[in-house]
Amino acid sequence: MKDDWHKNAACIGANTESFFPLVIKKKNLPQVISCFDLCESCSVSDKCLYQACINKEYGIWGRTTERMRKVFLKERDSTQELTLEECASLIQYLKDNEIYPYKGIVNF
Ligand code: SF4
Repeated sequence: MKDDWHKNAACIGANTESFFPLVIKKKNLPQVISCFDLCESCSVSDKCLYQACINKEYGIWGRTTERMRKVFLKERDSTQELTLEECASLIQYLKDNEIYPYKGIVNF
């Protein structure tokens, strides 16, 4: 059965341009932070993050930037199948290391 998690995305109707910054700098940080705020309130953020990791998506997905996901994927054992739970552990790692929600988004 197809998983229609997109239907419950908190960013439906939002300005999606903000979710795809070319670079994250102090100048566009307020827009990026508003995306992260929306993701934080989103009921499907774990599934969103998982899809972004699987498909190597560009932009902000599931409370992460592209670079956060790249670092995460590079450091894991790529011979093992990626799981939703493992992706969720990325958020915990970012929180534990105070990278998420806001500190460290620039340059990430
Ligand atoms: S986690 Fe963020 S990017 Fe993903 S569906 Fe929710 S609001 Fe949209």
